[in-house]
Amino acid sequence: RALTKHFHVGGGFAGRPSRVVRAVDGVTLDIRARETFALVGESGCGKTTLGRVMLRLQEPTSGEIVYDGTELTGLGEGAMRALRKKMQIVFQDPYASLNPRMRVEQILAEPLRSHGYGTPAEIRERCAELLELVGLRTQYLRNYPHQFSGGQRQRIGIARALANKPDFVVCDESVSALDVSIQAQVLNLLADLQDQLKLTYFFITHDLAVVRQFADRVGVMFLGRLVEVGTTEEIFARPLHPYTMLLMAAVPRPDPRARGGERPMMQGEIPSPMALPPGCRFHTRCPFARDICRVEDPVLQSRAGHTVACHFPLES
Ligand code: SF4
Repeated sequence: RALTKHFHVGGGFAGRPSRVVRAVDGVTLDIRARETFALVGESGCGKTTLGRVMLRLQEPTSGEIVYDGTELTGLGEGAMRALRKKMQIVFQDPYASLNPRMRVEQILAEPLRSHGYGTPAEIRERCAELLELVGLRTQYLRNYPHQFSGGQRQRIGIARALANKPDFVVCDESVSALDVSIQAQVLNLLADLQDQLKLTYFFITHDLAVVRQFADRVGVMFLGRLVEVGTTEEIFARPLHPYTMLLMAAVPRPDPRARGGERPMMQGEIPSPMALPPGCRFHTRCPFARDICRVEDPVLQSRAGHTVACHFPLES
């Protein structure tokens, strides 16, 4: 609820003041149990920061995070630790997120031990079970990360996230570093695991093809703000926010001549998050901007089954 995460950068040199980067700037969002909610937007829009703040891997500057009825921001380390078992993350880079000096068994045992899972024998058994869960053979438990392909490493990252039987998993660009054919295998695995373990996913990505295939609902983020939220079907069929429409228009078509016609273009560069434009943050790039857009910040409102923050949503 109204989550913000601001960073102070620069300052301290020759008396220069620090500047504020509003990485997440007043985001209110509901994620429903057992759905896949995809968060999309260009690099630097605040997607990853929002995912981390939701898990309190980074502390929010202000706002509330409510998980299954419990408000997290006021919780002490002990209470948060117990809940953290239920909320996990799969990182983007399977090459960097696994310790190269640890065997797979050690990697999987670490979160189990830190949450007091059981005896060493029970932990070993759980590690083998986790490897099987993600489609890898148990004899790999003694191997090191460098002995696996990128897709296999990401499976190990998923197994580690699932070690303590979470309900909610943030997947932060979890398939972006993989080849397309391997991406499909890992997405299928994530879908199977969701059915089997009744998981809820918060899926951070810039890849709209992945979103279309995988998500139930979509949130579109621009410069720290949510600008549109809706079901995947609705967002792809009838985007209401100009930014959503332009993001989709920017996806390359297999045959650009097939549908003909000029494609609308995003104008200019993304404004600096340290010097946000007044009014609608998107107005410097929006082909539909009018005078009011340059002075008045639009708020998220329900329209035609979506929520959208725009003075002139496309339906009008
Ligand atoms: Fe474009 Fe105005 Fe809507 Fe912003 S409020 S997206 S500038 S039409």
